[in-house]
Amino acid sequence: MSETKTCTKCGVCKPFDAFAKQKKGCGGLRSQCRECCAISQKEWRANSKDHCNSYASSWRERNPQKHVAQVKRWREQNPEKYRAQHHTEAAAARRAKAHAAAKDQLLDRYVRMCLKGRAKIPSDSIPTSLIDLKREQLLLHRLAKTLQGAANQSKENT
Ligand SMILES: [Zn+2]
Repeated sequence: MSETKTCTKCGVCKPFDAFAKQKKGCGGLRSQCRECCAISQKEWRANSKDHCNSYASSWRERNPQKHVAQVKRWREQNPEKYRAQHHTEAAAARRAKAHAAAKDQLLDRYVRMCLKGRAKIPSDSIPTSLIDLKREQLLLHRLAKTLQGAANQSKENT
């Protein structure tokens, strides 16, 4: 009996020791060679990571208060871990980037922040309708600024 097996993925005939052992598999070996297994595992992990992340972020969008409460609770229970994670340059850069994006797109959390700062309304008692109104206001403000800028420019040019 030859000590080789053909991998079902890459189709290459390889010696037995290129296949990981599996109790259920044909001949006690996996049907894919170690290399292919590693690749599919990596792919699977990347895909499921994407999936998990998008699920988590959509949950966060739907449950902002719950998310904030969760983060707060975790922070209180793990102050050292929190400091280690958040007091780094990379984390600061990430925060700055997220903030810039939120500001640019007028995401709820940015609008909420504006309301909190200006009107001093506690975050968890801001109704969605108020967020929408504030967003409109911010948009108008930006538009006015743009128009003003354009007007000034044309004045300078003439
Ligand atoms: Zn293979």
